[in-house]
Amino acid sequence: MRHVAVIGSGPAGYYTAEACQKTFGEDVRIDIVDRLPVPFGLIRSGVAPDHQSIKHVSRRYEAVALTDNVRFVGNVTVGEQVSIEELLGLYDAVILATGAPADRPLDIPGADLPGVVGSAAFVGWYNGHPDHEALAPVLDGPGAVVIGNGNVALDVARILAKSEAEFAGSDIVGHALERLRGHAINRVTILGRRGPHQIAMTPKELGELGHLERAAPRVDAADFPPAEADAALDPGQRKSVALLRGFAESRSDKPIEIVFDFFARPIAIEGDGRAERVIVERTALDGDGRAVGTGETYAVPAGLVVSCIGYRTPPIAGVPYDARAGRFANVEGRIAPGLYAVGWARRGPTGTIGTNRPDGFLIAEHLAEDLPQASGKPGRAGLDALLAARGADVVTFRDWQRIDKAEVERARTGAPREKFTSIETLLGARGGS
Ligand SMILES: Cc1cc2nc3c(=O)[nH]c(=O)nc-3n(C[C@H](O)[C@H](O)[C@H](O)COP(=O)(O)OP(=O)(O)OC[C@H]3O[C@@H](n4cnc5c(N)ncnc54)[C@H](O)[C@@H]3O)c2cc1C
Repeated sequence: MRHVAVIGSGPAGYYTAEACQKTFGEDVRIDIVDRLPVPFGLIRSGVAPDHQSIKHVSRRYEAVALTDNVRFVGNVTVGEQVSIEELLGLYDAVILATGAPADRPLDIPGADLPGVVGSAAFVGWYNGHPDHEALAPVLDGPGAVVIGNGNVALDVARILAKSEAEFAGSDIVGHALERLRGHAINRVTILGRRGPHQIAMTPKELGELGHLERAAPRVDAADFPPAEADAALDPGQRKSVALLRGFAESRSDKPIEIVFDFFARPIAIEGDGRAERVIVERTALDGDGRAVGTGETYAVPAGLVVSCIGYRTPPIAGVPYDARAGRFANVEGRIAPGLYAVGWARRGPTGTIGTNRPDGFLIAEHLAEDLPQASGKPGRAGLDALLAARGADVVTFRDWQRIDKAEVERARTGAPREKFTSIETLLGARGGS
């Protein structure tokens, strides 16, 4: 019997478990360990609460979780409660699927002012991640700035712009809905260092901005290259740029503007004891397509600044780390004998949910090659003994199903569809029937 520990229960973790099942059949036992008492990583705490159809992918992971040779070991932090060295002594393979949950720092003066937050924190706050429950961002307007030109920036802008009614059917947490209700923000400015052709925004997410109840996008037609240049773009990007061109032509009197400010680089955040404005430098593209400052600056009023500029994987003691890339040092997922990485912990924070699936199969292939036979390590029995000796309060998949049921039942009482947001309430909720 091969014993495999997968650290992290997000998409990469479950796709890897699925791939190991397909490769080794009955000859494998897989423990999926997560620091939270709830599974599914960013599906629960990153994907926007108003994108429920995307979150349904967790049903596929649930099918894997409910098979006999896969087990969820929640509420256990690897690197704190149990070390990598200990896990390597217990399992034939340890696969790190810990994602990239830390914000890449916004390295400009004033980035530490109150009112400036990273997207991991802001998104985690409205999605009920226990680490960010207490964020309580100030939304007293009138301006908010979102830094970045990817889909996360669009998620943040859309959440700020939606009316309460537009959250019907979502699973936004109550504390966020309460704070967003009646906020005073009437302009959300999305800053991008480069232009419309360089965005990393997909058509579906961009298109949504054109159908909001009380908000409309605004784009300056002067930011576009000649229309013929769009022909060179790949089809998805061409569609996104076409949507932006449409926004540039439309007029609206909706009370909230979502302003796309292209060729705009934040160089400082200023304010008296809190963020009040972002100082922006106008940029231009050089011959290699890089944004270079022009020296022209201006101020964008902002009481809230959300930086959506990427993420990093926190290091874990005993695991080689690539500090420049902000992820575990690995070659095609191999870190050291018996130790592997998948998903964002391997590649960095790029790609969609589905992009993590091939990672799982790649690692299963490596395992078949590196572990032609089991080594006789104790696997889950050894982990259970270790965690019991340390008094760990382990959460099982069955516990998670009870937590999930309690969340759904709570929503049926007429309260907004809500998630439990602290470790204590999550642990308390597993006691239900
Ligand atoms: C804001 C946001 C919105 C997104 N929206 C979409 C979308 O709409 N559609 C789409 O296709 N993709 C979306 N993505 C991308 C998608 O979420 C990622 O591709 C995917 O979640 C990465 O999977 P992962 O398993 O590598 O990491 P994660 O999903 O982050 O999972 C990592 C897991 O590891 C656990 N963990 C971390 N450290 C430890 C530790 N030391 N010990 C134990 N457990 C640990 C975490 O608790 C977590 O459960 C979004 C990403 C973000 C940030």
